[in-house]
Amino acid sequence: MADRYRSNRSRRRKKRSPKRLGLILLFEVLLLVILAGSFYFITRSNRKSDDPNKHLGGKQDEKNVDNDNKDNKGEKLTPEQEEALKEQERIKQEMAEREAIIEEANKLTLSYDYDGAIDLIKTYQGKEGGYEVYPALLKAIEDLEAEKDSLLLYGGSYRSVTEFNHIFFHSLIADNSKAFDGDYDSVGYNMYMTTVYEFKKMMQAMYEDGYVLVSVHDLAKQITDEDGNTKFVPGEIYLPEGKKPFVLSQDDVNYYDYMEGDGFASRIVIGEDGKPTCEMILEDGSVVQGPFDIVPILDEFVEEHPDFSYKGAKGILALTGYEGALGYRTNDPTSPTYEQDKETVKEVARVLKENGWEFASHSWSHRNMGEKSFEFIKQDTDRWLEEVGSLIGPTDILIFPYGVDIERTMGHYSSNKYHYLKEVGFNYFHGVDSKPWMHLKDDYVRMTRRPLDGQAMLQFPERLQDLFILEEIIDPERPPMNW
Ligand SMILES: [Zn+2]
Repeated sequence: MADRYRSNRSRRRKKRSPKRLGLILLFEVLLLVILAGSFYFITRSNRKSDDPNKHLGGKQDEKNVDNDNKDNKGEKLTPEQEEALKEQERIKQEMAEREAIIEEANKLTLSYDYDGAIDLIKTYQGKEGGYEVYPALLKAIEDLEAEKDSLLLYGGSYRSVTEFNHIFFHSLIADNSKAFDGDYDSVGYNMYMTTVYEFKKMMQAMYEDGYVLVSVHDLAKQITDEDGNTKFVPGEIYLPEGKKPFVLSQDDVNYYDYMEGDGFASRIVIGEDGKPTCEMILEDGSVVQGPFDIVPILDEFVEEHPDFSYKGAKGILALTGYEGALGYRTNDPTSPTYEQDKETVKEVARVLKENGWEFASHSWSHRNMGEKSFEFIKQDTDRWLEEVGSLIGPTDILIFPYGVDIERTMGHYSSNKYHYLKEVGFNYFHGVDSKPWMHLKDDYVRMTRRPLDGQAMLQFPERLQDLFILEEIIDPERPPMNW
């Protein structure tokens, strides 16, 4: 289905743009030829009129012809000719610049950033003036506006942002034989984890069904009214008809000790190509890099299918603090690599954010925040901010451990816990439910997430009916539920 969209899109482009763009280019080339020609004649007649011997008969004319021949070979140009040549060069170069900026703008539209594309073209400054004096740029903007006008709010798939799906995962199982080896942890992995095989199948299926990754910060935006009061309002996400915005998050991206040797990545690193990737420790102790978890897998998928992401959005990585962050034990000041690890996490987080990833607090200690006291939550939150927030940078997203909310109210949050969390900067609060649910209040966003794990697939398959044909998703190597 998404493929159909894609081909529709590109067909529409082919139908409209290239033909008219061709005319514009032809126009610019003609302009170039006319300009070049007139410079040639102007400089030629200037030189002739400057020639003191020009009335003295044929010989001198021959001399002029000789000069002309020499000029054609690029020798001994008069200053005017040099000027004219330079001018031709400049015109050619500026034309290439305009073509490049149009191409760059069109790339942005692959992830639906039409405003960004139009703004980019408007930054153009040529010798003759801004974008508005260049027909090719005006035409490109006109095309972009027209294409933007054809988009629908939420792709026409939802009436409200409260209907958006927010799906979540834990660390992916990269080596099934180790995760499902029958040891103590295997049952838990079978319940709460998803395999690399399944994740890839899910993303492909969602892509084909028109789903598009969006950031929660585009889903709901904080605005300031005339009185200076801030409030959250639904984001205006415009997509081609049939597209369906959704949010993705991953919990506990900490690569805990208990997972060692069980077929999971061990940490996130920056690969040789400068992009985030994973490390995994093999049985013989050697370390390999590769797409062993969501980050590099989804990055690669979006690179291949930029229309799977709205403005480059990827997902939210939720981190606890009790065993550090992203696979680095930055919780332990006695570790010999403590200082170095902290710097590495900062750098990895920076690159992740550059690649469209966002971070969330998943609390420091991963305790039930509904049951724990206000005092506990205050201290736990402070510790997370100090040990993890200080490395990954500010975030206003909180993902509740076990999906347990701080309050059970169906009205407005009112507890001390909420007020404290709000005070230290959290605005987006995420629990767990089997279907989309959201409260968009003036001062916060509360949105549940759907687990796409083994339990959901094997125990409650009916809950995922709207998303997948599970027979096509479930890893054939996954054991049955009551195994
Ligand atoms: Zn968790």
